[in-house]
Amino acid sequence: MSTFQAPKGTYDLIPPDSAKFLAVREAISAPLRDSGYGYIETPGFENVELFARGVGESTDIVTKEMYTLTTKGGDQLALRPEGTASVLRAALEANLHKAGNLPVKLWYSGSYYRYERPQKGRYRHFSQVGAEAIGTEDPVLDAELIILADQAYRSLGLRQFRILLNSLGDKECRPVYREALQTFLRDLDLDEETRRRIEINPLRVLDDKRADVQKQLTDAPRLRDYLCDACKAYHEEVRALLTAAGVVYEDDEKLVRGLDYYTRTTFEFVHDGLGSQSAVGGGGRYDGLSEMIGGPALPSVGWALGVDRTVLALEAEGVELDLPVTTSVYAVPLGDEARRALFAVVTGLRRAGVAADFAFGGRGLKGAMKSANRSGARYTLVAGERDLAEGVVQLKDMESGEQTAVALADVVAELTTRLG
Ligand code: AMP
Repeated sequence: MSTFQAPKGTYDLIPPDSAKFLAVREAISAPLRDSGYGYIETPGFENVELFARGVGESTDIVTKEMYTLTTKGGDQLALRPEGTASVLRAALEANLHKAGNLPVKLWYSGSYYRYERPQKGRYRHFSQVGAEAIGTEDPVLDAELIILADQAYRSLGLRQFRILLNSLGDKECRPVYREALQTFLRDLDLDEETRRRIEINPLRVLDDKRADVQKQLTDAPRLRDYLCDACKAYHEEVRALLTAAGVVYEDDEKLVRGLDYYTRTTFEFVHDGLGSQSAVGGGGRYDGLSEMIGGPALPSVGWALGVDRTVLALEAEGVELDLPVTTSVYAVPLGDEARRALFAVVTGLRRAGVAADFAFGGRGLKGAMKSANRSGARYTLVAGERDLAEGVVQLKDMESGEQTAVALADVVAELTTRLG
């Protein structure tokens, strides 16, 4: 061990487990790439004001969890705590919305940072794959994104997840509900911090996990009863589209989510094998966000799925991923001349698209064969002086144990054929 350790709340992805993370990112992004979403990458940090305005001054993310810094030049930056605000900022900056090609559909993958109290499934550095569809108000788009996330989780073999769905209303009906809720909440027996929350973001109070708070909320006014006709119709359409696609969801009135920018459709994917950090992904419509960060009106919808928690969900369900083979052929040279000859073979195999590795460092047969076994290679190639004198290498099938001498000149072709 070195003097240093990974910072609190973070962990390193190391082989072989790191392969699962790559596979999860791939599985989540594949349906997006097949559905017209283009890849976008934005910086790991942004002007702190973007998140303050975009995510919301009243959210835990902004008030408690941002990693902020002042540069030597005096700029106030924050490590990105989420992806949507940055992606929208980048799309506006590049005028993607002006190309007459709405919606702008984008996907991304990267690291996010929140100064949270670490526990299993909750880290200070974590990884998300996300998707945003910018500039169009169409329930089909909301449904598309939920269906694609469902497809991604299913393609990984996950089954024990549920989709929670709600509508948060829009700028017409939400303020009316907000006021009714505030009036109700002000009469309850709540602590100071929660009282402050009533004034800034009363919907978040509904999300409070404490039993004594939840008990007082039984008779709280319900958003459902306040939705305007347009929001109701929109939500019914999203629900009908999901049902038509065979995607099962649960209506969840309490789903408000932690970010201020959501309007209308909100949803969360929860996994029942994960304990308290059960949300594996979430998202929704954010029709007002563009204007909040100084852009034009661009109704949009998106989601972010957590890679770390998806991996934990796979483990909880006991799903073994069908990971790509890392090494198909492992070469074990015995002696200097064999080293040169087999390294040339390995190079030839790699150029032919065969995953091949090599026993480096002039190791003995026994140790090198152990490494060959550990590599999971289907075939090993062994050659010593006597083999080379005869112009052959020994090709061993690690499954059957069968060993044959193959002419050095033919071995690349032979292995390419055998491995299909
Ligand atoms: P959010 O932006 O909070 O809705 O997060 C979207 C998804 O990212 C969540 O459903 C989690 O899977 C994941 N996520 C959020 N925060 C964390 C964290 N601190 N550690 C690990 N995963 C996280």
